[in-house]
Amino acid sequence: MIDLANPELLRTEAYIGGAWQGSEESYSVQNPASGETIAHVARHGSQSASLAVDAASAALPAWAALGAGDRAQFLRRWHDLIVANTEDLARLMTLEQGKPLAESRGEIAYAASFISWFAEEARRINGTVIPGNSASRRLTVIRQPVGVVAAITPWNFPAAMITRKVGPALAAGCTVVLKPSELTPLSAIALAVLADAAGIAAGVFNIVSGDAPAIGDVLTTDPRVRKFSFTGSTPVGKMLAAKCMGTVKRVSLELGGNAPFIVFDDADIDAAVSGAMASKFRNSGQTCVCANRILVQHGIYDRFAAALASEVAKLSAGDGLADETNQGPLINADAVRKVTAHRDDAVARGARIIARGQVTGPAGGHFARAALLVDVPEDALLAREETFGPLAGLIRFDEEADAIRIANATTAGLAAYVFTNDHDRGVRVSEGLAYGIVGLNTGAVSTEVAPFGGIKESGFGREGSQFGVDDYVSLKLIAAEIKAK
Ligand code: NAP
Repeated sequence: MIDLANPELLRTEAYIGGAWQGSEESYSVQNPASGETIAHVARHGSQSASLAVDAASAALPAWAALGAGDRAQFLRRWHDLIVANTEDLARLMTLEQGKPLAESRGEIAYAASFISWFAEEARRINGTVIPGNSASRRLTVIRQPVGVVAAITPWNFPAAMITRKVGPALAAGCTVVLKPSELTPLSAIALAVLADAAGIAAGVFNIVSGDAPAIGDVLTTDPRVRKFSFTGSTPVGKMLAAKCMGTVKRVSLELGGNAPFIVFDDADIDAAVSGAMASKFRNSGQTCVCANRILVQHGIYDRFAAALASEVAKLSAGDGLADETNQGPLINADAVRKVTAHRDDAVARGARIIARGQVTGPAGGHFARAALLVDVPEDALLAREETFGPLAGLIRFDEEADAIRIANATTAGLAAYVFTNDHDRGVRVSEGLAYGIVGLNTGAVSTEVAPFGGIKESGFGREGSQFGVDDYVSLKLIAAEIKAK
């Protein structure tokens, strides 16, 4: 039973062309802290996805033609409604995703920040006038909405991964069809309830969920969709991006990471420990920018390990709605199995577990006990693959060049972290890391005002900041020949 102050937020249908659409079939949404079913959501497929593209196409001309200030007003109203409903949205998120309520409240504020940021940016989608290549030439470049946008988002940030796509798309004058993860659809649908209440016109923002491959097929092949934006795993992102090329869509990909977290001998140890805790254990280790490999220089290794161990021992995995919980469940049983496999593999290769957290959650929940491992070899699974769970492994290194070599020895390139009190080293290493984002003496790198995104197989495109609109506009050159009088 989901008890909300504003029960209207709890809907289970698709939202297409401003109308709520049920379906004969449904799928169940589980609370990962208990395994209990909390809702049955309409299961839609390719037909509904096509109808949503129809609606987004029909709504596009009027939305694109609105003044930028008018689009900004709608976005601001939507932002205000999200903020006003924070408690309910956070509760819904904790129930379907598991993260502790404090983290869910934080995510709602973070999600809302993208809407207000892009409401402001809507009025600054400026063009350029270029001096002509002859006396009679006038060259004007304008930025126009790319058209209908399709977006597919993951379960680990059920609200923020949506708003950082939909915010810039709507600001630019595009319309959107969104497919959220079937593991966390309720948060997405609640955002649509609030977009509707904000007066955003029918068809501008549509949500369809259910049969992911069938919906994905329409969104990646329908020629009317001109832009595809995906956040999720690298294999699925690659497969969907390849399909988009059949109709030459613009594509942005925010994919998996394998973040190195480098601690040098000259680092502030307390700052490094709190950075590692924030980066590794937020959302139970289920973030794409989570520290995945903690590289520690030999001179500070033992002291850092001991200090981190005492913090890891304080972690308590339980129901996110309970006050004492500082770590939620993992999303499902497969996620718990992956963490266990990475731990066992590291131990089989000679690593040692030096600290463990507690599990206080109910039976039936997908809980993983947090753990800290030392003496992890570079070739352990946890150093090569994204663990996506509360398992921290320390790798020892000697020289600065070794740290950069180990850090860059991966196909991923999303986020990296460096802790040092030597300014020159901080700059040198940050520049040498092959990553889209570097946290220098901080474990928190995400904000709506800065560009977020990766290089290599972590994807391309940037979300947030003044660059976040670029993925949703096309440049048009108007080359005018002017007759002399
Ligand atoms: P996922 O399995 O790739 O799923 C992501 C989305 O794709 C979900 O909506 C999923 O739907 C959908 N999907 C899966 N198979 C599909 C198919 N054949 N056709 C169409 N859609 C399909 O990833 P995830 O497990 O949800 O998310 C975790 C991954 O996301 C991690 O690798 C993480 O690093 C990455 N991530 C990256 C960023 C970033 O900004 N770089 C941010 C957050 C997460 P269903 O869930 O309904 O199957």
